[in-house]
Amino acid sequence: MSGRILIVDDVAANRIVFRARLAAACYDSVLAVDGAGCLAMAQSAPEGRPDLILLDLDLPDLPGSVVMRRLRADPRSRDIPVIGLAAGDDDETRLAALAAGADDALAKPVTDRMLLARIRNLLRTRGELGPELEIAEAGLGEPPAVFEPSGTIALVSSQKTRALALKAALGRHLRDRLVLLNPAEAMGEAAAGAADVFVVDIPAGEAATASLRLLSELKSRVATRHAAVCVTGLCALGDEAAMAYDLGADDVVGGAVAMPELALRLRSLLRRKHSRDRQRVRVADGLRLALVDPLTGLYNRRHAGPELRAIAARAGESGSGYGVMVVDLDRFKSVNDQHGHAAGDAVLVEVARRLTANLREGDLLARIGGEEFLIALPGSTACEAQLVAERLCHAIEETPFRLASGLGLSITVSIGVAVSVPRTDTRATIDAVVEAADLALLEAKGAGRNQVTLRQSAA
Ligand code: GH3
Ligand code: MG
Ligand code: MG
Repeated sequence: MSGRILIVDDVAANRIVFRARLAAACYDSVLAVDGAGCLAMAQSAPEGRPDLILLDLDLPDLPGSVVMRRLRADPRSRDIPVIGLAAGDDDETRLAALAAGADDALAKPVTDRMLLARIRNLLRTRGELGPELEIAEAGLGEPPAVFEPSGTIALVSSQKTRALALKAALGRHLRDRLVLLNPAEAMGEAAAGAADVFVVDIPAGEAATASLRLLSELKSRVATRHAAVCVTGLCALGDEAAMAYDLGADDVVGGAVAMPELALRLRSLLRRKHSRDRQRVRVADGLRLALVDPLTGLYNRRHAGPELRAIAARAGESGSGYGVMVVDLDRFKSVNDQHGHAAGDAVLVEVARRLTANLREGDLLARIGGEEFLIALPGSTACEAQLVAERLCHAIEETPFRLASGLGLSITVSIGVAVSVPRTDTRATIDAVVEAADLALLEAKGAGRNQVTLRQSAA
């Protein structure tokens, strides 16, 4: 995986060493000597921005935490992963950087293996957030949350007493729900979906293998793969920590981590998890909007085609036929003309509701034109399809449509019906059935409207 990394350090020798270490791992690097330079590059035009920032937290012009806060406050740089680096004994600076939104804050010196594993891990997570970055860049990104919702953190340990002690200690720093699980419970379906963050604890003296296996399971299972995982308790941040990052851990902390730091790190994992959850919802909404008519909530024309083909394919396999109807509102133009477009919209919504209420679960109902609906009835014969169509006609005509003004409108529809003969599921025969239903609709209109006409499909 390649990426462009911004190295921010005021000491020339450090910049040179980092650049060489990154080049050896095939990363390009760009350099800045102070906080102002870092902000300028991170907030430049999209093509000039780095994929990740290695930020020395002791800079001549600005404190590291201030640089961090400014990066996070600007939509152009808000999502760029940042690894802060501080002198080995300067916990205060590291904590301030974490609190300001750094993805990690490491004490120098950092081994190559560890640093590169962390970089790979953060670049991979950023890749998964691709659409969110595009949204942020288009200026549509949500502002940083003012109110941070609380979440559920599962503490997973094979030693109950350790888990209890951890819960008590963390409870003093976090207001999130803390639950205790043993490794088997963490893998259980019920517990699984309920946690936003798993803390996988490796008790001192125990081999890391079982915990790393658990980590990899959590990251690959459907119920838990969107949760964040923090591995705690590794004696030293060495090879096993690097392995944990490569297996997908979102954070790895040593056994000696102080509670305030662990709490800060878990809060930051929760924040990112919630942000990714919101992003997934937005993507799902976008997909749904592409298939659904916003006025009525029915499938749109684009979705109707593939659905109809699927119904035809299943009918072909089972040797049954299917019915198709085209429903069109009668003299709908005059509703708009006399009562306004909003009243027309309300009528369409109510028609969609009544049609839905009179169809079965597996039937297809789509709005394929302004005031035109397509219905497919899997497995129906001509006789059954005609009966359903008559029921629909009646359901529209029977009760007047109540407008917001209180006025009751009498609305009717005309319906053309056609059925496929069994074993006809090719594209041409599907088109022929729909065409036959369209012709039947024309006949119904010509014969005076508010009625059903059946046509045997040509196919
Ligand atoms: P017919 O009985 O022959 O079908 O007559 P009609 O008036 O229903 O048919 P026509 O095709 O002449 O007019 C359809 C009208 O449907 C015209 C258009 O303004 C209206 N329409 C289409 N889409 C919408 C919509 O989304 N909202 C509203 N309010 N009206 C719509
Ligand atoms: Mg009409
Ligand atoms: Mg029409």
